[in-house]
Amino acid sequence: MFDDLSASFEDAIKGLRGENKISEENIGPALKQVRRALLEADVSLSVVKEFVAEVGQKAIGAEVVRGVKPGQKFVEVVKQELVEVMGGENAPLANVSEKPTVILMAGLQGAGKTTATAKLALHLKDQGRKALMVAADVYRPAAIEQLTTLGSQIDIDVFSLGSNLKPEQIAASGLEKARNEGFDTLLVDTAGRLQIDSEMMDEMVRIRSAVNPDEVLLVVDSMIGQEAAELTRAFHEKVGITGAVLTKLDGDSRGGAALSIKKISGKPIKFIGTGEKVEALEPFHPERMASRILGMGDVLTLVEKAQKEVEIADAEQMQKKFQEASFDFSDFVKQMRLIKRMGSLGGLMKMIPGMNKIDDGMIKSGEEQLKRIEAMIGSMTPAERTQPELLAAQPSRRRRVALGSGHTPADMDKVLADFQKMRGFMKQMSSGAGIPGMGGLPG
Ligand code: GDP
Repeated sequence: MFDDLSASFEDAIKGLRGENKISEENIGPALKQVRRALLEADVSLSVVKEFVAEVGQKAIGAEVVRGVKPGQKFVEVVKQELVEVMGGENAPLANVSEKPTVILMAGLQGAGKTTATAKLALHLKDQGRKALMVAADVYRPAAIEQLTTLGSQIDIDVFSLGSNLKPEQIAASGLEKARNEGFDTLLVDTAGRLQIDSEMMDEMVRIRSAVNPDEVLLVVDSMIGQEAAELTRAFHEKVGITGAVLTKLDGDSRGGAALSIKKISGKPIKFIGTGEKVEALEPFHPERMASRILGMGDVLTLVEKAQKEVEIADAEQMQKKFQEASFDFSDFVKQMRLIKRMGSLGGLMKMIPGMNKIDDGMIKSGEEQLKRIEAMIGSMTPAERTQPELLAAQPSRRRRVALGSGHTPADMDKVLADFQKMRGFMKQMSSGAGIPGMGGLPG
């Protein structure tokens, strides 16, 4: 995510290297780079202009303390400004005392509204809240079914009245049900359109009047780039939004939308969608996103994910295995499953500082390689999984495992050799600090 932005900012900073202070004379090229980076990243022009002007002012006026390079200071100023533009702190969801809290989901068709509705419901469930989802998208035939399916997947109730009633009637009935049956949150999935149109806006206004929402969240596909500015403006003017959910940040999106939304509406991005799965929702952290943009990596998110997924006892046991170099193929499969639950390998790699420029092709081939290894492990006996030495000693078994999993004996030999190397490597690594449970990736 934001790869192009990162790369261009890094270039901008290089432009200031060697100078001993930031001045009107030397800041020009760096600002130009920032401008270009943002435009390339599809940030809307008006937002770029304002951003660059403010960064310029702040950077020139900034005191460069002795021992700090002007380039470093410049990064700090750019980062601070990015954080501010994106809203400063993470903004939580409304949680009103007069239940239920009503959340209206708005946005264009295909933005990820229905998916985001389910993701939010699951997120709230994880926090102990009890949500009811309302299927008020009566135009897209599959939308009601889609929400119902998602609802049963995550065990969240879905309220629907088919597609013959008006969305505002459905929403109002949903609210009544939520009140009567003790739900503390109502999530209303509405119908989008392919483009901004007045019919959609009028409908949103009618639904808004019917349920008087505490939140109107605009769901924005991060791939739409510059258009996010116009979209945000239209929805905010006509319907009034309280925040946004930025989706599909796991794809090749240019990321510019993140900068535009807050600047245009004054309302924060509250969550980001990072995948198609219903678990792929994260609170939006401007500080972290800014670090990511500047290529500093998103270590905090990584650590949080690791903590959520790794059971401590498990992590300690793994750590011990690394140290003793007794990590075996069963452990390897366990680690692979863990990584899968945490998201994609690529997504994780990109959060590691310095790794954000890792080539998607490399990640893909890495993921494929891991799949092949998993298949080979699947063909081993339990004894062979715990004692890879057994295979090393028996060429005929190696051959059978290889062929049994659809590979050549040479593939198998390479995996075994790599595995031995990896064990050695782990032993070395584990003497230093590391994130528990994050080991186990072959090179
Ligand atoms: P809606 O028309 O706004 O309700 O959009 P949907 O929720 O049906 O989503 C449209 C498509 O985008 C679906 O194929 C979703 O699986 C996909 N999608 C939604 N959110 C994300 C996301 O964060 N990442 C990715 N990769 N796909 C997403």
